[in-house]
Amino acid sequence: MTNPRTIHIIGGGMAGLSAALQLSLMDQKIVVYESAPYAGGRCRSYYDKDLDCRIDNGNHLVLSGNVAVQDYLELSGAQETVTRHKEPFFPFMDLDTGERWNVRMNNGLVPWWIFDPKRRVAGTKPKDYLSASHFLFAGEDDTVASCMKTKTTLYKRFWEPLAIAALNTEAENASASLLANLFTQSFGGGGAACCPLLPKIGLTETFVTPCLTTLRQRGGDIKFGSRLRAMDVTPDGLVTALDFTSHVVPIAPQDWVVLAIPSWVAQEIIPNLLVPSDFRAITNVHYRIEAPHNPAGFTGLVGGLAEWVFVKQGVVSVTISAANRYDDQQIEQEEWANAVWENLAKVFDLDPAKTPPWRVVREKRATFAATPAQNKMRPAAYIGWKNLALAGDWTATSLPSTIEGALRSGVKAAQTVMRWSEG
Ligand SMILES: Cc1cc2nc3c(=O)[nH]c(=O)nc-3n(C[C@H](O)[C@H](O)[C@H](O)COP(=O)(O)OP(=O)(O)OC[C@H]3O[C@@H](n4cnc5c(N)ncnc54)[C@H](O)[C@@H]3O)c2cc1C
Repeated sequence: MTNPRTIHIIGGGMAGLSAALQLSLMDQKIVVYESAPYAGGRCRSYYDKDLDCRIDNGNHLVLSGNVAVQDYLELSGAQETVTRHKEPFFPFMDLDTGERWNVRMNNGLVPWWIFDPKRRVAGTKPKDYLSASHFLFAGEDDTVASCMKTKTTLYKRFWEPLAIAALNTEAENASASLLANLFTQSFGGGGAACCPLLPKIGLTETFVTPCLTTLRQRGGDIKFGSRLRAMDVTPDGLVTALDFTSHVVPIAPQDWVVLAIPSWVAQEIIPNLLVPSDFRAITNVHYRIEAPHNPAGFTGLVGGLAEWVFVKQGVVSVTISAANRYDDQQIEQEEWANAVWENLAKVFDLDPAKTPPWRVVREKRATFAATPAQNKMRPAAYIGWKNLALAGDWTATSLPSTIEGALRSGVKAAQTVMRWSEG
């Protein structure tokens, strides 16, 4: 370590860990302050006492085209913790008709898979794919529903489950340009960019523990149970102290602060900061059951309550994205568990009346609402203060709320620290 300054990173989610990793690898002295007793934020695993097993707070799908994810796994030494699919293979089932099909993309940039009935979505034609690609040219105010024909088989069986999972926002309100940005970096890179990466054990074992180990090996300090409640800032934008609930940390003039906390907390600390303020929930239902082998590890569901089911060792989990759309039905947790199980019993050919032990987890503010209006409220990493950078999936990453976006925001914050301190 040659540099005597300290970079104080507030928040130990994907964005904060990404910033910490980048800065630590540039020989910067880092301290991470996390309010919870664990790191990972919205991307973590934990032991569930009732189910007697570890579960992820939510199913997370990342693809080989997520370059920031790939870099992060490599730099934190976590590459061996994921299973990388060798081909982009997405199994689906229509719960209304019982039909099953596999979307098998080819690896090159030219998507000839759409011309092969065995590789494309059942009941679709090649021309359907070409007309659906209009959303790639969407303007910043266009919604997904305004750019796609939402009554087509292709939409119902492919775009809808993908778009709602990727944006966590209903198509009528979701930003088409955010979807286009995401798809350009996955589907746009051909099949090779669309191979799923799945943690072998859990989110924490892949995205958190290896990074914390690397940070500590490089002399980084991680302080759990440290909740930031305010900052002292001079009128010309120099942060001089961090006020935690139990103590105050003075910030030397050469130090930097990276604020990698959720948007609503950031706004409490910087009241005039414009940030996304509308959110969408995700409900996950976990079942303690050893399901039949699923070669992909997941299946897309059409016509059910959930869009995706993930099969792990001893646990089957479903994700219900944009879960607010069911709020007015006031469904109780047990009703969710039984109703979703009826869907899954069809997938696995099991008894719909015998719901296995379950856990329903609702993340109320899982992501910001990926609408055109909310997208315009995302601040850049540098807001003009002398020694402050912002990070988080809600900052201006051009992607929706995703691990990829959060990790990129951390990289951007680290670059901001290095660039502005040099200048
Ligand atoms: C159920 C669910 C499913 C998802 N599925 C996917 C998916 O399939 N693919 C995908 O790419 N993304 C998915 N996401 C989104 C992804 O998890 C998030 O985009 C990402 O984890 C956000 O990281 P972050 O660091 O920006 O924010 P956070 O994870 O919210 O991290 C912020 C951290 O700051 C801490 N903190 C808060 N206040 C303070 C304070 N005052 N002082 C100190 N620390 C504080 C928090 O405890 C937290 O650890 C999903 C999210 C959820 C919830």
